[in-house]
Amino acid sequence: MIDAYSIPVTKIDRSKLNDIPLENIPFGKYFTDHMLEADYENGEWKNVEIKPYQPLVLSPALASLHYGQAIFEGIKAYRNKDGEACIFRPLDNYKRFNISAARMQMPEVPEELFMEGMRQLINLDKNWIPAKEDHSLYIRPFMFSTDEVIGVKASDTYKFMIILSPTGPYYGAPMRIYVEEKYTRAAPGGVGYAKVAGNYGASMMVTAEAKSKGYDQVLWTDAAEHKYVQEIGTMNVFFILGSKAITPDLSAGTILAGVTRDSAITILRDMGLTVEERPVNIEEMIEAYKAGQLQEVFGTGTAATISPIKELKYKDFVMTFNVDEWKAAPEMKRRLNDIREGRAADKYGWMYKI
Ligand code: PMP
Repeated sequence: MIDAYSIPVTKIDRSKLNDIPLENIPFGKYFTDHMLEADYENGEWKNVEIKPYQPLVLSPALASLHYGQAIFEGIKAYRNKDGEACIFRPLDNYKRFNISAARMQMPEVPEELFMEGMRQLINLDKNWIPAKEDHSLYIRPFMFSTDEVIGVKASDTYKFMIILSPTGPYYGAPMRIYVEEKYTRAAPGGVGYAKVAGNYGASMMVTAEAKSKGYDQVLWTDAAEHKYVQEIGTMNVFFILGSKAITPDLSAGTILAGVTRDSAITILRDMGLTVEERPVNIEEMIEAYKAGQLQEVFGTGTAATISPIKELKYKDFVMTFNVDEWKAAPEMKRRLNDIREGRAADKYGWMYKI
């Protein structure tokens, strides 16, 4: 059994922080001084340690490189107005991580290792949390199989790691989105609900095709009919019709249960909107658009928070939106960011103090 409270720590000699200005830094490009590493062997987690951020030495036969048992999470930490470091809803990501692990026949990561390891790592690198508005520290926990053998079977050994990356404001320019009808991201019974590396690998060619047509991302649709919308890139999707917000439900197991999605639902309800989680047929949204009822369409996710959609194309029909006139999404984004960045009271209990 691991004792995360006594994780051995090897500190760097000299912080890289002085070399990297923490202002307007691009997403995911710089990493902090330390990382957490743990190994799963003989049915237990061991060798838990925090050490200087460094490359890994891996076998060319490493199972995850060939057969793809690899999962990850994305979480953010902020500095509140009193200078305290807080993580946004990390327990929800912890639970989702183990849901992904179970689907990929990977071992469960104990709560103590994930949460306490993350807490101690961030505590060590807390100077890396930018103290500026719209800045945060992106937390990337991940696990991959490490057996050194060629052969399709679940690995017996795994590595769990956490790395940290300071991030600047996300210039969420309104997106042009292509409703995908040819390719499929996820089908019932598949891995759509899991945060599996392969889901992202499989999306790249499709995104590249959409980009070649002038779109930023695709809105995935169901595998059977390509009519029921699922999600966009690394975001869940919401439609605002008057005082109603509509978002695809999770029951088919084909979309990721976004932590931002859940937070958006809570805040929208608090704002007085009715939120419907149900199958969303793109043709229903087109009818609502034609009737002048569909006002706002946006994506929700940890990286972008709330990302407005200014153009949505389905077959030959193009819906356009004047993002500057929107009410619900900007208000919801403001409320969410005020909580995350500590300007508003944490009324839902979402902030986890380090
Ligand atoms: N869908 C997918 C496929 C994603 O990768 C993400 C980002 N994790 C999301 C939705 C949004 O999830 P969250 O709000 O938890 O970041």
